[in-house]
Amino acid sequence: MPSPDYDIIIVGSGPAGLGAAFHLSEAAPDLSILLLDGEKICSGGLLNDCKQNYTYPIGFVVENWTREEAEKILPEVETHLQPVVKERKNLDVYRRRAERIGVTLLDIRQAHVGTDRSRALIRRLMSELEKRGVRFRLESEVTDIFDDVESGVVVTGTEKLRARKVIVAPGRKGFSFLQHLMERMGIDYIDNVVDVGIRLEMTANNYPIVKDYYDPKFIFPDGVRTFCTNSGHARVVLERYQGFSLVNGHALSEKQPANNLVNFALLKTIGLKDPVRSGQQMAVFLGRLANEIGGGKPLMQRVGDFRMGKRSTLETLNEDLYAFPPSCPVTAGDLGLAVPAKIMRHLWAAMKKLDTIISGILHPSTIMYYPEIKMYANKPAFLDRNFRVSGNVYMVGDGAGTSRGITGAWASGIRAAEGILYNR
Ligand SMILES: Cc1cc2nc3c(=O)[nH]c(=O)nc-3n(C[C@H](O)[C@H](O)[C@H](O)COP(=O)(O)OP(=O)(O)OC[C@H]3O[C@@H](n4cnc5c(N)ncnc54)[C@H](O)[C@@H]3O)c2cc1C
Repeated sequence: MPSPDYDIIIVGSGPAGLGAAFHLSEAAPDLSILLLDGEKICSGGLLNDCKQNYTYPIGFVVENWTREEAEKILPEVETHLQPVVKERKNLDVYRRRAERIGVTLLDIRQAHVGTDRSRALIRRLMSELEKRGVRFRLESEVTDIFDDVESGVVVTGTEKLRARKVIVAPGRKGFSFLQHLMERMGIDYIDNVVDVGIRLEMTANNYPIVKDYYDPKFIFPDGVRTFCTNSGHARVVLERYQGFSLVNGHALSEKQPANNLVNFALLKTIGLKDPVRSGQQMAVFLGRLANEIGGGKPLMQRVGDFRMGKRSTLETLNEDLYAFPPSCPVTAGDLGLAVPAKIMRHLWAAMKKLDTIISGILHPSTIMYYPEIKMYANKPAFLDRNFRVSGNVYMVGDGAGTSRGITGAWASGIRAAEGILYNR
């Protein structure tokens, strides 16, 4: 049998792939490593906004990670990402107010790079890896993985590259690719979790906590939490999928002039049980429904209109009272037509609680955007704690359900790398 082309092939140059590449090239410089990505530059959160959370469980999936496991690896993640951790102030005050009404405020070590500076970070990471001899092939989509007599990958449907070990880290975008692989390779998987919610946008004076805590993580009853807060120069953005769009948010670095808007998501986690099993399918249905009602776009509604039970219109988005224009002008309408009632009830209850802790978010001008949905993963049935799914193949990162954020993804890559080194 011919010798393999590489010792290790890594599919995906997001944080999970980079984490694996750094760990392997550091621990075993003799290994030949190839990193492949379908895009020109890695396309996940490292490129967009790049908030980094260094406190368990943020970014980790608790079924796969204990606190101890995460805390052991996080210092290694920091060594490479070199975060400038933001100060948190007055936490006791917010916590006391929150606890009185059954809400928890997590204290998370955070850093924020900003969309305008993230490319420079990615370039630095890639150049460091190249200096260690790691090879990159960008704009090279992997269409298949094989692991029988030999193991390796197929690039753009034709080119076969053999490797002793393959790490597959295609992120959330690689959902269908991973699903196809697992079905073909006979790997069992589950896909039963989905987060459904809204993104709120308001003037900075109606959510002043961001001056004290950049991305405050509140946990409410009924599985609702705040997620991904952006301020300074912040915008709501569209994330396009086949046939529908979702909303998300990001901010530029502190070097850019502020637009005095804040946005953050309120998400409700839904764990589906038999007979409904696919979180992905549910997300697609909800995403398509909202876009259908919005004439091909997501929906937005002012809190003032929502409280009065009437739809928002272009006019309500422009009247004097509602002083700021939406940063992502989608279709003004009625969220009540698109959000399932139980989800809306729980989100609204959380908004009322949040407004009690930090008065302001229920101001009539606040905009509620929908849908913000996080489709997690097809979680493979792993063969070991290092995320191995077959003889020589490992699946890691957000696409494989081992993480939910940049730092957790990077740590997952390290854990797969540790497994490879251990079995070497
Ligand atoms: C808009 C946006 C903003 C976000 N902001 C944050 C944030 O601020 N903080 C945070 O912690 N998390 C954030 N996230 C989540 C974050 O992106 C993920 O948690 C993290 O990037 C997951 O890392 P990953 O390596 O698993 O996947 P990704 O970062 O998604 O990387 C996967 C890579 O694999 C490539 N790929 C996919 N399929 C193939 C294939 N078949 N062949 C070759 N290459 C392939 C993709 O092009 C991609 O570059 C954000 C996500 C999005 C979409």
